[in-house]
Amino acid sequence: MIAICPNCRSHEWNKLVKGSHIFCPECGTEWQFKKEVLYVITGCSGVGKTTTAQELQKLTTDYVVLDADLFYNIMPHESEEDYFDQIEQIYSLSNDISQCGKPVVWTMAGNIDKLLQVYHAQFFSEIRVLALTCGESALRKRMTEGRGIMDEGWIQGSVAYNEYFRTHEKIGEVSFSTLDIDNKSPMEAAQSVLQWLDAKK
Ligand SMILES: [Zn+2]
Repeated sequence: MIAICPNCRSHEWNKLVKGSHIFCPECGTEWQFKKEVLYVITGCSGVGKTTTAQELQKLTTDYVVLDADLFYNIMPHESEEDYFDQIEQIYSLSNDISQCGKPVVWTMAGNIDKLLQVYHAQFFSEIRVLALTCGESALRKRMTEGRGIMDEGWIQGSVAYNEYFRTHEKIGEVSFSTLDIDNKSPMEAAQSVLQWLDAKK
């Protein structure tokens, strides 16, 4: 909505962002918007993103905390193009929410590598990513005992993705920080996430 031209109503994805101003190339109108940081909490399936995010919601109302899985229910998710569309919609929604002056925090497992490759990324001052990690045995326990997941393929995939986060600092061009939540309760994990968020305000 904020990226739709208030003058000519163009909703084409061709706006230019200069600082905190949006410029419409079709009619030359320029308007101001709140350019916020966008936060992403990632990590493998089963590590505890949702649980941590739910605790985070109890701790603070300074951030709007949302789960990117909602787009799986309302958009196709078969091809790379579908995933790029999802990221665009995540950003577009976040941009409108950010106009209230509160940054948005998403929980999102995959497609982190696409975060800087989309049109709507320019509407944010920065994209900051935090990966939740834990040790392999703790992860297996969280998945099997915590969530009742018995699919060994699923568990293996998560173990490998978790290991990637533990041993890298980037996915594609997207840098991330890590937070090991091995010995943390959900509330303690959320407190650490909040510290990370507040430190980067
Ligand atoms: Zn215009």
